[in-house]
Amino acid sequence: MSETSPRLRGALDGIPTYKPGKPAASGGPVAYKLSSNENPYPPLPGVMEQAVSAAGVFNRYPDMACTGLMNELADRFGVPHAHLATGTGSVGVAQQLIQATAGPGDEVMYAWRSFEAYPIITQISGAASIQVPLTAGEEHDLDAMADAITERTRLIFVCNPNNPTGTVVRRAELERFLDRVPGDVLVVLDEAYREFIRDSEVPDGIDLYRDRPNVAVLRTFSKAYGLAGLRVGFAVAHEPVATALRKTAVPFGVSQIAQEAAIASLRAEDELLGRVGTLVTERDRVRRSLIGQGWTVAETQANFVWLRLGERTLDFAAACEAAGVVVRPFAGEGVRVTVGEMEANDIFLQVAGAFR
Ligand code: PMP
Repeated sequence: MSETSPRLRGALDGIPTYKPGKPAASGGPVAYKLSSNENPYPPLPGVMEQAVSAAGVFNRYPDMACTGLMNELADRFGVPHAHLATGTGSVGVAQQLIQATAGPGDEVMYAWRSFEAYPIITQISGAASIQVPLTAGEEHDLDAMADAITERTRLIFVCNPNNPTGTVVRRAELERFLDRVPGDVLVVLDEAYREFIRDSEVPDGIDLYRDRPNVAVLRTFSKAYGLAGLRVGFAVAHEPVATALRKTAVPFGVSQIAQEAAIASLRAEDELLGRVGTLVTERDRVRRSLIGQGWTVAETQANFVWLRLGERTLDFAAACEAAGVVVRPFAGEGVRVTVGEMEANDIFLQVAGAFR
C-alpha cells in the first residue's frame, strides 16, 4: 500500500469539524436532549403525511429549483422569487454566502461568542475570522463591530437572537449599524430563532432587507417549524446575492421530502406557532426560576438559555447528564440549554438549583 496520501488544501489543517449537540443517552435513565435547540414536539400528522407522500418517489431527484416551496415562501413573506434561495439548512446557506463573497485575504466578521459554525465555515473558505467580543451583558457590540470593518471585510454575521446567549439586537442600534456598513459589505442577519422573539423592538430582517441591497436574511425550518432532521433553510436577499446562492448550491441539496414537509409546515403555521407560544411561556418560566435561584441569566428571546459557569461548566454538564438531561457545554464559558419538555426543563432546574 502506498505511504502517500492525497494532497489536501493546507488551509484545511486545523479546521475543527462541526460538533453536533450530544444525543441523549440510550438505555440510561430518562434522557432528554437539550443540546441542539431542537423543537421537542413530534412532527404534525399532516406534515408527516405530506413528507411521506414524497418518499414514494425517492428514486427521482428532487425539484432542484424548489418551485413549490419558493412559491409558498414568496407568498408568505411578500418577496419576489428572485430574492429567495433555499439550501440544506440555514448553515448550508450561510456557507454558500461565505463562498460567494470571501476567500483568502478577506475577512468575515461576527460577534463572539456566537454560532459555532461561523468560525468553521469561514476557515474553510480561506478567509480570516474577525471575532468581536460580546458586551459584559452578553449582547452584540455593534459599535465595536462597525469600528472593526476594514477594506478586507466582505461579510458580517449578526445572529439575532444570538446563539448561545439568546440576546437580541434592537431596531435603532441595528439601523445605526447598517448605516455605518459600506454598501459592498454583505450583512447577514441570521434569524434562525426569529419566531421565538417577543420583544417588539427587535426588527424583522425581512422588513429591513427591502431597501438595503447589502442585507441578507437567513431563516430555517429547523427550529420553530420542527424540521431539523430534514435540512431546509432559506435566504431572503436582493437579486445578485440570491443568484450567487443558486450558483453555489449543492445540486439537489434539498430533498423532495424536505420540500414537501416545509410547504406543509407553512400551511400549518398557526398550529406550529401555537407550539412556539407554549415554548416561549416555558422559556420565560425557566429563566425566571433560574433568576429566582440567584443566577444571572441574559434575557433570552430564543428557545434556549445561557448560563455562565466558567470553570464549573463541564461539571455542571456532567451533573445534568447524570440527572437525565443532556445540555451543551462550552468549556470554560458556560452551558446552553434548550427549552424542551416541561419535565426535562424541571430536571435541569433542579440541577441548577443544587449548583448554586
Ligand atoms: N443559525 C443559528 C444561529 C443556529 O443556531 C443554527 C442551528 N444551531 C443554524 C443557523 C443552523 O440551523 P439549520 O442548518 O438547521 O437551519
